[in-house]
Amino acid sequence: MKSKRAVIIGGGLVGCLTAIEMKHKGFDVSIIDQFNIGSGSSIAAGGILFPLMPWDYDLKVYDLCRPAANYYKIFCEELLKNTGIDPEYSESGLIIINPVNTKKIDDWCNKHQIRLKKTVFNGSPSIELKNVSQIRPPELIKSLKVYMKNLNIKMYENIKITDFHIDKGEIKRCSSLDDTSFMGEVFIITSGAWAADLLKGYDEQIFPIRGQMIQYPNTNLEIKKIIYQDGFYLIPRKDGTIVAGSTLEKVGFSTEVNADSIQGLKNKAETIYPILKDVKIEKSWYGFRPGTHDNIPIIGKYRDYSNLYLNVGHHRYGVTMAPKSAEIITSLIMGS
Ligand SMILES: Cc1cc2nc3c(=O)[nH]c(=O)nc-3n(C[C@H](O)[C@H](O)[C@H](O)COP(=O)(O)OP(=O)(O)OC[C@H]3O[C@@H](n4cnc5c(N)ncnc54)[C@H](O)[C@@H]3O)c2cc1C
Repeated sequence: MKSKRAVIIGGGLVGCLTAIEMKHKGFDVSIIDQFNIGSGSSIAAGGILFPLMPWDYDLKVYDLCRPAANYYKIFCEELLKNTGIDPEYSESGLIIINPVNTKKIDDWCNKHQIRLKKTVFNGSPSIELKNVSQIRPPELIKSLKVYMKNLNIKMYENIKITDFHIDKGEIKRCSSLDDTSFMGEVFIITSGAWAADLLKGYDEQIFPIRGQMIQYPNTNLEIKKIIYQDGFYLIPRKDGTIVAGSTLEKVGFSTEVNADSIQGLKNKAETIYPILKDVKIEKSWYGFRPGTHDNIPIIGKYRDYSNLYLNVGHHRYGVTMAPKSAEIITSLIMGS
């Protein structure tokens, strides 16, 4: 029997993991990106596999994030074996300096069986969550592209989908401005911050939130754990580089970055490690998160067409939520 064709619009991590899940369920999968696969918010991310801070969110956020650590631990081993590229999964742990409302955190961690240790960092009361893990997004994406190719998932880059062609309430094909067409039985929008371009009336629900990051070179500083203080974090990578972020800016898709925001990140990093004052930033970048009001993505069937599905709006935690949301959307499609 011929496989059903699934067309996935948007090649970020959410799209890639959805593509893999759909392929495993027997679909003939195509994934399309307006730029390069993975070059949206996904490549810009810190790669922390844990919400900051889960006790402050609706429980739905944590429910979507919970499976990530275990999923990536196993999947990154498979990716390394299959592609030779290491996405750098590590259980580096997380230290939160001067946490607010420790009673609430204690109760939450007890309830969710998260190991918490009280500690002191730089003379400040802190807590440590030993099991918080991370991956390195650019390496993960490199590896995923090879993996998807090996799985025979068809990847199309530099094609921006602009139109759906409908017959009797069902999408028959989608197309780009130059009329490159993709036929399919199932269509899934995973286009992140750009989702409202294709979904009229969704711009109040999904909107870009720019995030900037900076990276320090290997300083030989003995930082092994992710450090969080007052909305800011430092992530040590395996090669000794340190990534620090991030800003949360409602500036649309503006690409104009001013030096103050980079300096702001640098100042925060130096508050934690004064020695970083003497270290030159190696690089900086930004990405457009698919913002939603409560960090809760839209995962489901589109109301107007019977074969269009949405997996968008993962805001600050899309790397972490991608495995679970790929599973949810695939189950929904399989069941319908
Ligand atoms: C600075 C920063 C730090 C972050 N840190 C973390 C973190 O530590 N942990 C975490 O879990 N999350 C983090 N995030 C959030 C995370 O990056 C996002 O939630 C996640 O990447 C969203 O994935 P996505 O696939 O939905 O979107 P994207 O990665 O943006 O992918 C969407 C893709 O769709 C493509 N596209 C859009 N429109 C079209 C179209 N019409 N046709 C074809 N293609 C189209 C885009 O080009 C893009 O590649 C961070 C984000 C930023 C910016």
